[in-house]
Formats: sequence, C-alpha cells, structure tokens
Amino acid sequence: MTTNDSLCPNCKAPFAIENPSVEMICPNCGARLNPSAFNDSHPERTVRAVFRALFWAFFLGTPVAVFWMAATANSILQALPVDVRDMVRPLFQTPTGLLSLVAVGAWAAGFCLTYYGQIFSSFAVRLLVSPLLGIAVILVYVGLLYVGCALAFGGK
Ligand SMILES: [Zn+2]
Repeated sequence: MTTNDSLCPNCKAPFAIENPSVEMICPNCGARLNPSAFNDSHPERTVRAVFRALFWAFFLGTPVAVFWMAATANSILQALPVDVRDMVRPLFQTPTGLLSLVAVGAWAAGFCLTYYGQIFSSFAVRLLVSPLLGIAVILVYVGLLYVGCALAFGGK
C-alpha cells in the first residue's frame, strides 16, 4: 500500500487518492469519500495521534498524580511491604522526590512532543531533544503555578 492508497470505509475496496483536497466517489460502491479523512488513518498520523494523546496524559496527569501522591503518601506507604516502603518513601515525602517525579513526567511529555514535528527523524535525536522539551514543560507548569497563585492570592 503506497501512501496515496486508502480503503473505502463503506466497501473496503482500495482506491488511489490523486488529489487529497478533492472529494471522491468510491469506484467500487459509489460511496462519497473524503480523502482528507483517510489521511488520518495512515500509520504515521496514527502514531502522532497516539503520542498527542500521551502528551496530554503526561502533561495534565503528572501534576495531578504528584499532588495525589503527596496528599495520600501515608496511606500508599502503609499499603506497601516494609522494605519497599523504605525504598520509595523519599519519592513520596521529600520535595526532591516529588520534583523528580514531576521531571520524569515532564520528560515523558517532552518525548511525546517530539512526535509532533517531522524534523526529528530518529529515536536517538528524539531522546536527546526530549529533556529540553521537558524543561519547557516544567517552565509551563511554573508559569501556570505563578498565574494560579497570582489569581488566588494576588487580588487585593
Ligand atoms: Zn466503496
């Protein structure tokens, strides 16, 4: 299957997209086809869609997860076996531990972001660029936190 081929959603017959901006009629069953919609089903687009979803999951989920872990640290630690508890306690109960969790989440979000652009072709380059994007994500968090605090406590 070349990149210009797609399957009719109605009859599953393959057809070639000549001009992606022009609506077509399926040569097999006569169904109306919107070629721009099919482009989304190409593997590359699917990968990008998955990483877009993962980015938002990490971006939004990291602060929520870390706040939740900090708030429920005691009950989580109680549920763990003693030797594991002592190992993970610093992660839950020290600012450094919680900040490193934020950093890991931001790095993961940054890695997902590298799939947005077509510039980064190789996995190694993506891995190298992702910490920089992770730092950008943390700066966004800091900015949001600052704005949030200003809104919450700044009004006089
Ligand atoms: Zn068809």
